[in-house]
Amino acid sequence: MRTPFVAGNWKMNKTVAEARDLVSVMGKELNKIENIDIVLCPPFISILAIANLLQDTKIGVGAQNIHWEEKGAFTGEVSPSMVKEFCNYVIIGHSERRSYFGETNETVNKKVHAAIKNGLTPIVCIGETLEENKAGRTSEVVSSQTLEGLKGIDAATAAGIVVAYEPVWAIGTGLAATADDAQNVHKNIVRKSLTDLFGEDAAQKIRILYGGSVNAANAADYFTREDIDGALVGGASLKTEDFVAIAKAASK
Ligand code: PEP
Repeated sequence: MRTPFVAGNWKMNKTVAEARDLVSVMGKELNKIENIDIVLCPPFISILAIANLLQDTKIGVGAQNIHWEEKGAFTGEVSPSMVKEFCNYVIIGHSERRSYFGETNETVNKKVHAAIKNGLTPIVCIGETLEENKAGRTSEVVSSQTLEGLKGIDAATAAGIVVAYEPVWAIGTGLAATADDAQNVHKNIVRKSLTDLFGEDAAQKIRILYGGSVNAANAADYFTREDIDGALVGGASLKTEDFVAIAKAASK
């Protein structure tokens, strides 16, 4: 049995003051929900404030990115050991990082290893673009992102990581994948690739989230599918009512 998992990716939204206001309301509601892991991923600058507000709750805090090096001349970057002072999780390889900041399966793999080495649970994002989807390349793209992004991890460690399947065409567009289509990718492409990499036992333990225009109205449908273990939520994670509804639906 995999514990449901819901993460909110705030992207580049909310000042520190706004983030505090949001979490002081949302945090209380989220903390009442049982049988689920919930993680908020604010921008770096708000992490300390949010971690303080959530310190006596069950809610985890995640970063949206890390560098793979521990320290040094990497202006503007943040290292895993800096993040781990306040976070237990880190999103790695989000499609916006892949498309705007040149991240590749190779850099994703370096970051995943750096996260694990520092005791951070990576939430590793994979997903095909609209062009790739239309060209019938979903299986090829998503399996190679999984195999290359997660290579070199031992099976016992891999069992604890989180993978998020986020078709790029569904992110922030309102064009969510159907629950049936997402289940098909989760089972036949993602979990199959995880089985090839880590064996059946570990692959069955890895939580695979769906991400892409999940909202309060469509969330419950995803969670009825066997291989959809939760959601990575962008826009709707900035609204208390919506994110709480999504987390409640996942916890059932
Ligand atoms: C995301 O940023 O990971 C995401 C899924 O965004 P949205 O929910 O807004 O589509």
